[in-house]
Amino acid sequence: MRIFMKKTWDVLVIGGGNAALCAAITAREAGASVLLLESAPRDWRGGNSVHTRNIRCMHDAPQDVLTDAYPEEEFWQDLYKVTGGITNETLARRVIRESATCRTWMRAHGVHFQPSLSGTLHLSRTNAFFMGGGKALVNAYYRSAQALGIEVRYESPVERIELQDGHFLAAHAGPPGALERISAKVCVLASGGFESNIAWQREAWGQNEQGEWPADQFAIRGTRFNMGVVLRDVIASGADPVGDPTQAHMVAVDARAPLFDGGISTRVDSVSLGIMVNVNGERFYDEGEDFWPKRYALWGRLIALQPRQLAHSIIDAKAIGRFMPAVFRGEKADSLESLGNKLGLPLEKFLETIRTFNAACRPGQFDHSIMDNCRTEGLTIGREPSTRRPILRIRSNLA
Ligand SMILES: Cc1cc2nc3c(=O)[nH]c(=O)nc-3n(C[C@H](O)[C@H](O)[C@H](O)COP(=O)(O)OP(=O)(O)OC[C@H]3O[C@@H](n4cnc5c(N)ncnc54)[C@H](O)[C@@H]3O)c2cc1C
Repeated sequence: MRIFMKKTWDVLVIGGGNAALCAAITAREAGASVLLLESAPRDWRGGNSVHTRNIRCMHDAPQDVLTDAYPEEEFWQDLYKVTGGITNETLARRVIRESATCRTWMRAHGVHFQPSLSGTLHLSRTNAFFMGGGKALVNAYYRSAQALGIEVRYESPVERIELQDGHFLAAHAGPPGALERISAKVCVLASGGFESNIAWQREAWGQNEQGEWPADQFAIRGTRFNMGVVLRDVIASGADPVGDPTQAHMVAVDARAPLFDGGISTRVDSVSLGIMVNVNGERFYDEGEDFWPKRYALWGRLIALQPRQLAHSIIDAKAIGRFMPAVFRGEKADSLESLGNKLGLPLEKFLETIRTFNAACRPGQFDHSIMDNCRTEGLTIGREPSTRRPILRIRSNLA
């Protein structure tokens, strides 16, 4: 009689994005046998990582595609400011220091870099762009993984992690009703967050004062496969959750974007070149608080806190061509009255907001690629110099 023993892998990696692939490749190169489980089918593999475009890296002098220096301290201060100081300095500095050398590793595993193109030139000092974007990066890592002999299984969502006395024993993966028990000596959990799980987002965000469920209006720019199944399972088994589930990298996206996988083409990048008004025609945050690349990730959250989770970016013709256009066309009008009507805004309030803003603008030298000295004076919202000019003649709007 022949007895078949089920294989126990050295390392089981759960997830199929950047983090999972880097872990899998590193483990395999150290001599371990590695199995990677990706919940998505092959065509949709790679999680949010396929939507990425660049990596922010510290460097003390210009390097190939990176112009000028971006030293550790500046990177740390940027992170500190954007998180309002709610960050772990030891961990953050470690990531910052490692970012100086990781491109060598990435290149060795098939990733190519390219200089910033027009529209992203203001990032040319700090961010190295992947040739072909995140999809090419992920494809390069899958090719490396295959060449190294890493086994990859698609459509293998992990449902449950089996632990014994706090130690990993096995993962239970596969379609509902046909779960397979997969054991390994070590397991790496790299299966993303819970951003695609609207029910969980609803739970985290709750209802606002108007009785709305803000999460119902969210558009997820990334993958539909990050449902947080593994996260929820390990939290139920005693893992400590950290952070606030409503805090996230949330950008302003076009309200007409698809529910999932809209990617960067649905991002609204005109915010700092004009003003933002909510459905009541009121401004609600300083659009020029800082240089745009340091602020864009706040705007999704700010809009989520507004009625109907909707806002309009109001720009004039001078702004056209100075930002990455979203994939959907904005509304255009030759007068503010006409624009306000097209957008269904309360006209009097909308016109008053624009008038007040224009009256508060002080001259400066406009340069949206830096934190310039254009500014408003005397407004409750808008204290600092900002990358703004008066909205005199409205030509376009991106909702
Ligand atoms: C539109 C967009 C643009 C971005 N641009 C940038 C950028 O330019 N630079 C940058 O640094 N960051 C960027 N980010 C953020 C970046 O995408 C993430 O920080 C990064 O991809 C996270 O990598 P990850 O491997 O942890 O997760 P992901 O890449 O999301 O991978 C998670 C993986 O886990 C799999 N999975 C989920 N649940 C299970 C399960 N139960 N079982 C098995 N597998 C599972 C998913 O299918 C997926 O393959 C961007 C994000 C988005 C959405």
